[in-house]
Amino acid sequence: MGYDAFVRCNCFKEGKTKPFRYSKYVKLYPEGPELELPEELAKNHDLAFDMRDEFYNWKEYACEHENMKYCSERIGNIAGMGWLRTCIECLGGEREFPVLTSQLPHSNDGFMPMEYNERFRGDLDKLIKQQITVYQIVNTPDSPFSSDNHSSYLMPENKDVLLCENENNKLYSHNDVFRIEKHGEIIFRSSRFNVERIINRRFIFKDRTQKAESTIFFDLNFFRNHNKQKLSYKKETFYMQNELKYEYEVFMNLLKASKETGNPICWC
Ligand SMILES: [Zn+2]
Repeated sequence: MGYDAFVRCNCFKEGKTKPFRYSKYVKLYPEGPELELPEELAKNHDLAFDMRDEFYNWKEYACEHENMKYCSERIGNIAGMGWLRTCIECLGGEREFPVLTSQLPHSNDGFMPMEYNERFRGDLDKLIKQQITVYQIVNTPDSPFSSDNHSSYLMPENKDVLLCENENNKLYSHNDVFRIEKHGEIIFRSSRFNVERIINRRFIFKDRTQKAESTIFFDLNFFRNHNKQKLSYKKETFYMQNELKYEYEVFMNLLKASKETGNPICWC
């Protein structure tokens, strides 16, 4: 499962395809030719099945382009697309990248109307030049309880992130500072601290100078191996020209093919 895209060729439109005996039932869509049988033929299931079978065989090798695809690209798997969306979101989302945000595929069908092509390219060119600095809460490497656990939250620099909340407690992170608020008052604030899980959903936070308690924690995975953890921050910068190099090239190929053929980029 993942995301692919293609741009169809013009061979059928230009009459360059091999002959097909049911061509009078073939209709051209942005995604390519489709067989549309009239009701009286479609009702005859065996015949319709054979005709469709013949159509798909024909379509696959009807011209020099396999399946009439002038350009065909793998955009990425679900995780790859998720990372692309995360990067866009961290860098301003819809406000900064309106066309990328609205036109990236959410499913494996449909197409991007060609009027968006240039602005899609503009958003990509803008995205690829940027970088994202994020903070992540991790187990301190020298912790005796250290494991490969780390929070999956990537928190953009200079952003106040609400990690979790319930009636009484709010857990926040801002750059490399973690804090707990109770009824709007800060009761704990630290960059490097211990946290201990005690049954009945009590979490004790401690560092050299302070101690606080909360009834919630933002990522229970930390406690998979041990109920006591030493936590601190990791800062990382991601350069889009490295992170999205592949996706950028793929989209540029598709945009080029779309321009050359006059056909839209289709998602599949
Ligand atoms: Zn072709």
